[in-house]
Formats: sequence, C-alpha cells, structure tokens
Amino acid sequence: MRSRPMSTSLPEPYSKADDDAVVRGCIDGDGDAWSALKGRFQHDVETIVIRVLDERRVGQIDLREVPSITDHCFRALQRNDAGPLRLWNGGRLRPYLATVIRQEAEEHAMEDTPLQPLVAHQATPAPLKVERKSLSESALRVREAITKLPPRATAMVRLRLRGLRMGEIAATLGQPVIALQEDLGLLAERLASAQGGGAVPAWRVLLDCATTEERVETALQTEDDEAFREIREVAAASWRHVREDALVARLPRTPGPLQDATGVASFVDGTWRGAERTRAEGHLSTCGRCVDTVAMLTLDLRALEIRRASHGGRHTGIAASCIATGRFGAGRVLAEAAAAEEQTEVARLLERMADVGSSLEEGTSRRESQGSRVFSMAALPTDIEAPVVAFEALVAGDPIAAERAIDDHVAKQTVGQRLRLLALAVDPDRTDAHAAATKVIESPSPDPGLRRDAETILALPENRGLPRECLAERLRDALPDGVRFLVSR
Ligand SMILES: [Zn+2]
Repeated sequence: MRSRPMSTSLPEPYSKADDDAVVRGCIDGDGDAWSALKGRFQHDVETIVIRVLDERRVGQIDLREVPSITDHCFRALQRNDAGPLRLWNGGRLRPYLATVIRQEAEEHAMEDTPLQPLVAHQATPAPLKVERKSLSESALRVREAITKLPPRATAMVRLRLRGLRMGEIAATLGQPVIALQEDLGLLAERLASAQGGGAVPAWRVLLDCATTEERVETALQTEDDEAFREIREVAAASWRHVREDALVARLPRTPGPLQDATGVASFVDGTWRGAERTRAEGHLSTCGRCVDTVAMLTLDLRALEIRRASHGGRHTGIAASCIATGRFGAGRVLAEAAAAEEQTEVARLLERMADVGSSLEEGTSRRESQGSRVFSMAALPTDIEAPVVAFEALVAGDPIAAERAIDDHVAKQTVGQRLRLLALAVDPDRTDAHAAATKVIESPSPDPGLRRDAETILALPENRGLPRECLAERLRDALPDGVRFLVSR
C-alpha cells in the first residue's frame, strides 16, 4: 500500500483558528490567512454577488459574470493593507463581511451597467384590468399621502417595500410586534382613505398587519364581490407604483450611526444594545438610505443561512438560498447549472421548485379560478420527490394528486404535513380538514408555519374550500421548508 504524501496529513493552516485569528493573520499579510478567509466565505460572497446581479439585471442573470465580481470583492478586502478588515470591530464577522461585500458588488455592478436603473427584485404581476386613468389618480393620491407621512411611518413603509415581514420590521425598528401592528393598522387606514372607498382590508394585507382571520375574510370577499376585487387591484397597483419609485431612487447618504459597515452589521446582528441601538433606531426614522442597507443585510443573512444549511455542491446551495428567499429566476438559472455540473436529483427538483415559486407569484394577480387540471402521475413519487409533486399539483389545482403524493412517511416531515393539510382544505366537501387543523393546534408546540396553515383553515366558514389567494400565500410560506427538505439530506 502506498503511503499518502505528507502534505495531505498536515492540517490546513488556520483550519482550527476562529474568525478573529484569521482576520488578524490577514492584517499581518499572511497568505495562508487570506486563503483561509476565502475558503470560509467564498460561497457567501458568491451568494451575495448573485443576489446583487439579480437585482440589477432585467431577465436572466449570466453566471459567467460571477467569478470576476467575486474576485473584485476579495481584492477590495485586501485594499489599503486589509483596510476593511482593520475596521471590523470584532463582532460577528459574517454580517460585517456581508455588508462590505454587498457595497462593493453594488458599486462594481453599477459601474458595469451605468444606465441600468436599480431594479429591486419583486414579482411582476400580470397586467391589471382596471382602467389606466382611475388607476393613476388613485396611485397619485396614495403616493402623495406617503410623502406626507411622519418619519417613523416612512421607515415602516420603506422596510415593507423592501419585502420585510411585520416581525422583521418590528425587530428592525426596535418595537414590540403588537405595537407595530397597531401602527401599521393606522397607516393602512390613512392610505386607504387616500385611495378612497372601502380599501382598508386591502391595505392591511399589503402592509402585512392583517390577522389570519382577516386575511381569510378578505380573500373570500375578493372571490365573491367584484367591486371589492377592483378596490384591491387598485390598491395593489398603487403599492407597486410607490415601490418602483422608492426602489429606483438613489438616496443621499447622511452622516449617522449607521454610515459604515461596522455600524450596520452590529445593528442587524443585535450586538448593539442600549443607547447605541436607540440612536440607530432614531436615525432609521429619518434616513431612507440606511433603512435600505439594513433591510438588504437582513435579507442577505436569511439567504446565507439557507445556503450554509444546504448539502450538495456549491450551485445547489446557492440555488436553494435563492429559491427559498423568493429569487426564483436566479434560482432557476443556478439549479440548471447545478443539474448540469452535479447531475443530482436534488438539482433537478430545485429547478421544479423554482418554477413552482414563479407560478405562485403569477397566480396572486390572477383572481379568477383557473379550473382544475388533471395532474397525471405515472408512478408514486420517491420520498424526496413527493413534496415537489404535491407543490406542483396544488399549484395546478389538483389537490387529490397532491394528497396522493404525500404518503404517511413523508407526512412525518413538517413540509409533508403542511402540504397534506392544505390539500385537504382546498376541497369544500372534505370535512376532515377542520379536524386535522384542530389536531395541529392542540398538539404541543407545532411548527409556526404549520400552525398558521391550521389557523387559516379554521378561519374558513363551513363548506368553503381554501380560497386560491390563501392557498398561494400558504404555499409561498411553505416553499422554504420544501427547499430545506430537499437540500438538508
Ligand atoms: Zn443614514
């Protein structure tokens, strides 16, 4: 038997060192430390670069652009004798690097395509049927109402426009959720009165402060009442107008506690407490630029967490993080790359999950029922494929196929349990959905998403199936669970 060469039996330099020691090594100019830093954060940097590209490119992103921008970002860290690393205050390294890397990648992408407006990633819903004139008048009134909001409410709107949920907005502004829900409720009333004509429920859903019961009621009314449907479409279109305006504008940088990456990272990762934190929260009320920076870091960190929890190759992990955070176009491109390179079943299933995500986004603006499509299935799916088939079947309007895909074994997983419950609830004639939902609520500490599914079902009147809007909302919420199920094995 041949003995292995010496070098492979020696541990890599810095393999046992903590981030602090690696950074110190980089500052001292140790090449091994730089290699270790790159090894640790290469995939994080690529993930952020891809997210930045995705925000700027209309249409498909080109993965060939990624390596050069990633290299640029690492070179930026080395600039001025590792200047950016010297500015790190020793808090958690990942949020700090994420902030610096996003800044570098954004600037680089901007130089690359100076004429490309900053297009934040958001779903582009299908064209609305409402007449152009009435639409823009309402949109103008809403936009004007938003410009007249006090600073704190402006910050709330901006965080919501960036796609943060109510809980995340509360955490960012340092407010208890209950208090924020009340503030968002007042804001919904204000915007609804600017639009005119019974739009409060529509705005409460848009601002993410509606309770589960309200959401269900609003969805049912949208299905049943044509006039109300129109009100909701106007509200949605106004919100989209505001969002496009707000996200395209380049805001000036004002001095304050969040002007550098250390401050932003310490604020978002919770290192800052007490007076420092209060000062930063106060600044957020007045500075849209910092609100954006904080929001983007929050979303980036969520993506990095999913990427790190993923098994499989590098493209698989980044694909998973894109799809689980709503970047379906980029997720599709990466899943295709993963399927081509890694030849795994998981990569091909991720492609299908990206398609599920895209059709869920389109589906939200299509109010009318699509009618059931028979979902053909030659053989029962494998365990790993089963949730994907169930997602596809539910999107296609075939709850029976969805239910059939989830066998008892898969139903032991949270995502399987959620999909089975939702499949039961779609059919108004099925009486077992109610009982199954009650069982979930009564079980000790159910998964939060599953609990919300069950609450949604229990809020339905008797003999009424889950409205398509609620189904789409719950499926979007379950999608990250589905992605994690695929890549965690
Ligand atoms: Zn600021």
